[in-house]
Amino acid sequence: MSSVTSPASVLISEVGPRDGLQSVSRTMPTDAKRRWISALHAAGLREIEVCSFVPARLLPQMADAAEVVAHALTLPGLTVMALVPNLRGAEAALAAGVHKLTIPVSASAAHSLANVRKTREEMVGEVARIVALRNERAPQVKIEAGISTAFGCTLQGLVPEDEVIRLAEQLVAAGVDETGLSDTTGHANPAQVQRLFRRLGTAVGDHAGAAHLHNTRGLGLANCLAAFEVGVSTFDASLGGLGGCPYAPGASGNVVTEDLVFMFEAMGVKTGVDLDKLIAAREPLKAGLPGEPLYGMTPDAGVPKGFAQGAVHG
Ligand code: ZN
Repeated sequence: MSSVTSPASVLISEVGPRDGLQSVSRTMPTDAKRRWISALHAAGLREIEVCSFVPARLLPQMADAAEVVAHALTLPGLTVMALVPNLRGAEAALAAGVHKLTIPVSASAAHSLANVRKTREEMVGEVARIVALRNERAPQVKIEAGISTAFGCTLQGLVPEDEVIRLAEQLVAAGVDETGLSDTTGHANPAQVQRLFRRLGTAVGDHAGAAHLHNTRGLGLANCLAAFEVGVSTFDASLGGLGGCPYAPGASGNVVTEDLVFMFEAMGVKTGVDLDKLIAAREPLKAGLPGEPLYGMTPDAGVPKGFAQGAVHG
């Protein structure tokens, strides 16, 4: 992201099997996860955050993380990503063979203490230890730091932009390949998204990473478009907006993948994702979590008549 030109194609990084599933109290059976991830891959998605490596007593939904990774690794051309909150999780994820690690680091001092019981400075230290482990055991694996609560925080409210940018610089200095910005709790607006991603690009250049935006207050797509207009080319999204928002019952959580793909493809921006197959990928999700609320306007309305997608891979 070194220029401010909008890219001709974007990478949609599907986070439903991690962000979505860990926000749902029920556990999707392992076989159903395999079928769902295969369907997402068949739709053309080429980066999927398939799980998080966290203690099973904290998140029983993710107890089968290594098995899920093993399946995802069989899918050709797929970048298999896992979330790791600490060094122990990173060890397990590297042993499982993931291609990419993502580490959440809170920009909000209050959120960092509440979420991982570490200060932001301690988290930067943990990230440096994960980078050292990666360099020693699996130098080909990429590491992304996702700066959560970058646009605001339910605990402390405002998060100063200078602190977000300073944290991004510290994370790049600690050795991460990319640092993205996450609107964990739906505080962001398009003007703020443009301002902060511009500053991120200026501060860390090509190390600027994905936009992870939520739709809590209905601004998810507007925020993605705003980020795209300042050169962001990777967008996290969740099929069916799975998981909702724990802070706002009835509101979707992550940006809905189907709506995001529709927006970009309708604009002529290539995603590599086949919209019909993507909508079909809701079936194995529904089968694995019967009755779970799903969100999204495009799946309900259907693909419009005359809508033609460019060549898709896969
Ligand atoms: Zn999220």
